[in-house]
Amino acid sequence: MSDLQQLSDRQLYALRTRLAAGVHDPARTLRGALHQDMRRCSNGRCRCREGELHGPYTYLSVYGEGMGADI
Ligand SMILES: [Zn+2]
Repeated sequence: MSDLQQLSDRQLYALRTRLAAGVHDPARTLRGALHQDMRRCSNGRCRCREGELHGPYTYLSVYGEGMGADI
């Protein structure tokens, strides 16, 4: 595969489109899980400090070789 940093935005979008077209069923090809979470922000005076949390936010955790990473 070519060095992605050498590609223009247009080339990157085209590559993404080509790659996405080859994925027929993400549930079978992605090793990971979607999960949702409510969050408390860093503003000490925010409503979330009283229990009204932000969200829900959806996260995709992809599992590799013995490790996980949130995208
Ligand atoms: Zn907040």
